[in-house]
Amino acid sequence: MRCDVLAVGTELLLGQIVDTNSSWLGENLAMHGFDSLSQVKVGDNIGRITGHLRRMLSESDAVIMCGGLGPTHDDLTREAISEVMGVELHLDEDVADVIRHLFSSRNRTMPENNLRQAMVPEGAMIIPQTRGTAPGLICPVVIETESGPVERVVYAVPGVPHEMREMFERVILPDLQQRSGEHWTIASRTLRTWGESESGLNERLDDIIHDLDAEGNPTLAFLASGWEGLKVRLTGRAPDEGAAAALLAPWEKKIREVLGDQVFGVDNDTMESVVLDLLRAQGWTLALAESVTGGLVSGRLTGVAGASEVYRGAVVSYASEVKFDVLGVEEGPVVTEDAAIAMAEGARKVLGADVGLALTGVAGPSEQDGMRPGTLFAAVALPDGEPDRVTSVHVRLPGDREMMRQLSVISALDLLRKRLLDIR
Ligand code: ATP
Repeated sequence: MRCDVLAVGTELLLGQIVDTNSSWLGENLAMHGFDSLSQVKVGDNIGRITGHLRRMLSESDAVIMCGGLGPTHDDLTREAISEVMGVELHLDEDVADVIRHLFSSRNRTMPENNLRQAMVPEGAMIIPQTRGTAPGLICPVVIETESGPVERVVYAVPGVPHEMREMFERVILPDLQQRSGEHWTIASRTLRTWGESESGLNERLDDIIHDLDAEGNPTLAFLASGWEGLKVRLTGRAPDEGAAAALLAPWEKKIREVLGDQVFGVDNDTMESVVLDLLRAQGWTLALAESVTGGLVSGRLTGVAGASEVYRGAVVSYASEVKFDVLGVEEGPVVTEDAAIAMAEGARKVLGADVGLALTGVAGPSEQDGMRPGTLFAAVALPDGEPDRVTSVHVRLPGDREMMRQLSVISALDLLRKRLLDIR
C-alpha cells in the first residue's frame, strides 16, 4: 500500500522551518512496510494545496497532510480537504466543547477564531487531540479512475512534530494497517562499533551489503555517532516478533564474523557498560588515574547503574606533583608511556583495586613535554600473575580540546575492554 505525504506551510518553502515531519513519516511508513513515493511541500494557498492533493490522490492510496490545522485564516488544510471531497465543512460540537474547555480550564477567553479548528468536512472522522487544540482528521475520498470510482483516504495532522507523531502512532498507523490488511512487526538490531571509519566499515561489509540489497529485507544503515563510535543497524520486517528476530540473527552473525571485536556492544550498550560487565564477569574491581580527561572517564562509569560493584574510584592527577606524590610516578616528563603505566599501577595500589586504567596526554591547544595536542597514552595494569599484565597504547587523536578528551575516554575504555576480552 502506498501513502504519500503533503506538508503544508509557506514557512517550509521559505526555509524558516525544516520539513522534518516528512522525513520522520517517510522513515516510519517504510519501517512498517508502506511505500511513500512522493513527498511534497506546499505553501498556504488553497488552489495549490487542492491541486497537489488531487494529483497525489490519483497516484496514492493514502495521503498524510501535516500542518495548516491551526486557527488562523492561513490554515487551509480543512478547507482544501472538503473541497477535494466535494463536501461542506460543519462545526463539530464535541470538538468545539473540548477547545472551549481547554481555554476555560486555563482561565482564558477563547478567541472565536479557535472554533475554526472544530470545523470538520462532512463524512470525516476525528482523530481526538491529546496535546494541542487541533484534532486530526481521517477523510475518505472517492475519486474517479479509468476503472471506475475508488476510495482513497486523506489524514490531516497538526504540523507540530510531537503532536503529529503521537497521532500517527496512535491512529494513522493502525488505520493504514487495517486498510491494507497487512501487519508487520519491525525489529532492529544495532551493533555498536569502535575503531574504524564509516568508509572503512562500508568496504569491509561490501559483500554483505550487496547481499542485503538483493534481499531487500532486512536493510542495513550506518549511523555515525561521533565519539560514541559507529552504529551498524539492521532493520527487518516480518509477520511477528519471533520471525523478525530469526530474520536478523544470521545477518548479525555474518557482520560480527567480519568485524570481530570492533563490535563492542548491541542496542543500548555503551562502551562503559560493556567494560563494567566484563569486569564484573571477571570478579575484578577497577581504579582510574586520569590526567588529560580530568574525571570524564569516571563520570561515564558512574553514570551506569550498578557501577559501584566494580568501580572503586579515580585519582584525578592533573598536576604533575599529584602523579609523583600520590601515584608514585617517577619525576620527569609525564606525557609518556612509562608515566601512563606507572599511573595505572599507582591507581591500583592507592585505591586498592584489581585493575588500574590510566590516561595521560595533551588536549591542547599548546604542546606539553614536547608532545603535540592530540597525544594520548593510556595504560592498563591487570592483577598480579596475569599474562601481559601491563599494556599501554600511544594514540594520536584528532579534533579540538573537547573532541580530543572525549575520544580519549572511549579509546582508553576500549583498550581495557580488549584486554579483558583477551584474558577471558
Ligand atoms: P497547530 O494548530 O496544532 O499549531 P498546525 O497544523 O496549524 O498546528 P502549523 O501552524 O502548520 O501547524 O505548524 C505549527 C508548527 O509546527 C510550526 O511553527 C513548526 O514549528 C512546526 N511544523 C509545521 N510543519 C512542520 C514540518 N513539516 N516539519 C517540522 N515542523 C513543522
